[in-house]
Amino acid sequence: MLLEELRRQIVAAGEALYKSGFVRDMQGNISVYDEKTGLIAITPSQVPYSMHNASNMCVVDRDGNVLEGGRPTSEIALHTRIYKNIPDVHSVIHTHPINVCAFSVSHEPIPQVLADITLGFHGEVPVAGYADPGTQAVAEKALEVMTNGTNRCVLAHHGLIVADTALEKCLKSTFAIDDEAKILLLARAAGMNIKCL
Ligand SMILES: [Zn+2]
Repeated sequence: MLLEELRRQIVAAGEALYKSGFVRDMQGNISVYDEKTGLIAITPSQVPYSMHNASNMCVVDRDGNVLEGGRPTSEIALHTRIYKNIPDVHSVIHTHPINVCAFSVSHEPIPQVLADITLGFHGEVPVAGYADPGTQAVAEKALEVMTNGTNRCVLAHHGLIVADTALEKCLKSTFAIDDEAKILLLARAAGMNIKCL
């Protein structure tokens, strides 16, 4: 089995996201790029998280051609195009976190309001223009705003995409960005005067 360890890491990350309500049923997708082989392990299409295991993850090349497994996620282009266009990316996570989605419907970037020593300063999370899920256009819109070192963005009317040097970092950022969105929503609801970092 190709990339067995990376498949296991993806299953564990998916479980963590599913348990936290960041994805439901078959939403979202996760991938990890293996520099040694040039291959990508990625979640499959139409398989619920409760059924995920190492053997039903997919392995594709950098063009999205399937080497092992069934059909990869419908957002395969989003993943492969990020690997091709953003240097040093080894993992990509796409989720539908509720608080981030509140920002996604107003097309508002999420400003950084919390200092987090594990994540450092990442600035605001920009919003990519709307494109139908599962199309090449989603990747195009995301890459338009993921420039100048910004490796994360809100997808308008859809969710969140985070790319980073490791799966663990993507996971941490995904949780941190939704925390930030939640705190902003709470502070706004309380009528507080919010200061950005
Ligand atoms: Zn999605």
